[in-house]
Amino acid sequence: MPGLPTLAPMRVLLVEDEAKTAAFVRRGLEENGFTVFVATRGDEGLSLARTEPFDAIILDISLPVLDGFSILAALRESGNKIPVLCLTARDAVAEKVKGLELGADDYLVKPFSFSELLARLRTILRRGVQARDHVIRVADLEIDLRRLRATRDGQRLELTAKEFNLLALFAQRQGEVLSRTMIAEEVWDVNFDSDTNVVEVAIRRLRKKMDDPFPQKLLHTFRGVGYVFESNRP
Ligand code: CA
Repeated sequence: MPGLPTLAPMRVLLVEDEAKTAAFVRRGLEENGFTVFVATRGDEGLSLARTEPFDAIILDISLPVLDGFSILAALRESGNKIPVLCLTARDAVAEKVKGLELGADDYLVKPFSFSELLARLRTILRRGVQARDHVIRVADLEIDLRRLRATRDGQRLELTAKEFNLLALFAQRQGEVLSRTMIAEEVWDVNFDSDTNVVEVAIRRLRKKMDDPFPQKLLHTFRGVGYVFESNRP
């Protein structure tokens, strides 16, 4: 297929709690040369999506622990633009609309045929490959939001998932002063009313890897206010 990398198999994360559907989709995709990872719980799906590089996610909406909407919202809020195909219940128009609003690339209504799923998956994969906006560059820093990789001056930064999400947030909102509370809400999906120390500790760790070894500093502290990410500040 033109435009798609052919050397390595495409990696697809399938988040689906119905064993029969999961087995049917997995088998079909594997027969078509994809590498498939299955998560049967929403929280497992989100955690895999954040820590492993995938080319696309097939996401059921109704899932145990964390539903598909929450997973999608969490990924998009942290800047992850991976192509997502949602699986929705029959005739649930509200589900489709909500999924697309949250940033799904397409949806498929259950029950569906495998050939339809494959066609839609290939379409969103092609779109994903064409869209180059998943790479953010700031000075010599490069962040690949789909492959969850960051480099500075060509050197790979070994970041934890949280540190990566933190860096992605800063890079996407360059020049804006972000408060600790705002950062906590965006990166940890919760409101740390009192304990913004968690944010400070994470930022210290991120700086140590991302800024300290390099002459040009990108992350700057505004005492008592928050942080700003900028390449042109002395
Ligand atoms: Ca389900």
